[in-house]
Amino acid sequence: QPLTDLTPDQLAERLTALRADYAALQAKGLKLDLTRGKPGADQLDLSDGLLGLPTSTKDRAGTDVRNYGGLDGLVELREIFADLLGVDVAQVVAGGNSSLTMMYQVVSWLLSHGGPDSPRPWSQEETVKFICPVPGYDRHFTMLAELGIEMVTVPMHADGPDVPAVRALVEDPSVKGMWLVPTYANPTGAVCSTEVAAELMAMPTAAPDFRILWDNAYAVHHLTDVETKSADALALASASGHPNRPIMFASTSKITFAGAGVAVIAASPENKEWYLKRLSFASIGPDKINQLRHVEFFGDADGVRAHMRKHRDLIAPKFAAVQDALTSRLDGLGIATWSKPTGGYFVDLDVLDGTATRVVQLAKEAGIALTPAGSAFPHGNDPDDRNIRLAPTFPVLAEVEAAMAGVAVCAELAATEKLAG
Ligand code: PLP
Repeated sequence: QPLTDLTPDQLAERLTALRADYAALQAKGLKLDLTRGKPGADQLDLSDGLLGLPTSTKDRAGTDVRNYGGLDGLVELREIFADLLGVDVAQVVAGGNSSLTMMYQVVSWLLSHGGPDSPRPWSQEETVKFICPVPGYDRHFTMLAELGIEMVTVPMHADGPDVPAVRALVEDPSVKGMWLVPTYANPTGAVCSTEVAAELMAMPTAAPDFRILWDNAYAVHHLTDVETKSADALALASASGHPNRPIMFASTSKITFAGAGVAVIAASPENKEWYLKRLSFASIGPDKINQLRHVEFFGDADGVRAHMRKHRDLIAPKFAAVQDALTSRLDGLGIATWSKPTGGYFVDLDVLDGTATRVVQLAKEAGIALTPAGSAFPHGNDPDDRNIRLAPTFPVLAEVEAAMAGVAVCAELAATEKLAG
């Protein structure tokens, strides 16, 4: 029976029972953590073969990878990413270990220099705004806050950002860009459909240098045997006459080692040239030894896909445990909804409006660390105080089960407290 249908007396009775459940939870003395979207140790073990590689010091062209040079990265690694991302190898630059750093470079250089089609550097505009689909990735938002870019939000739906809302915002010439995690979005798990992607690439924008930062961090991170393909952003943009609009990012952070993988960008020829030009003042070349190690480890894109199936085998049970805990306690109560992702790293939980902060606090006092309420919104501000991002990959399965059973108690308790007034 939905909690909202209960009489005051029934709610009071329920509250007493829930307080007892919560006391029992606290008595367990748990120390669990669902905050971090990090691979578990068993996932990292899958890539330990990298530690003995590369066996060669030369790339395919015979260049010594130990030396300087090769700013755009090893072609054999770029071929693997081109295949995985469905782009042309000539569009890809392979860099260091972090795609987030590449995003930061791109935004910083748009501010300091402008893009190839900018009338002036973005920093010379009175105001620069970015569209942020919410809930979204907290580091995208903190990066913009750090760089002085204003954030305007649009809802993220199951098939991508709300297109009418985006269309309305891009009529403002100070709206210069937009974040998008197109596949298995952080944190909702949404997959941007080809229709939505086509509209975003084709829509008129007041800013001539509008950019969509297409962060495909989870392009190959499937949780089921349906290996969903990402919308073909670069081709859609070219076909609609806006080849420079999207800049694509990806990395092996959640494929091999989160701290020692390889990141790439993929973009139009003009954007690529622009990126490499700016980069040439900051670097003499990437870590080609790490790039070659990844090439030897995977062989080709199918090697990556096979590797991702091993990840899936390790983490799918943890995602199933999250679903089981939420369903068994909260289903039908009318106080929570949650995503059922088919890929990526997160489950997105919406609790009763106005209770997310309380749920996180209750969980903390029971020894369960959750990402702070609101962290999936710009400036940490969830206007409805209902969103909580759950990250089940890092703890072992038994810990995910225990933590999620506790989270479900906290969500029900916070809702009942609120309804009981
Ligand atoms: N983009 C998204 C959407 C992420 O969720 C993450 C990590 O959680 C990153 C980027 C970080 O990428 P990288 O490790 O390549 O810097």
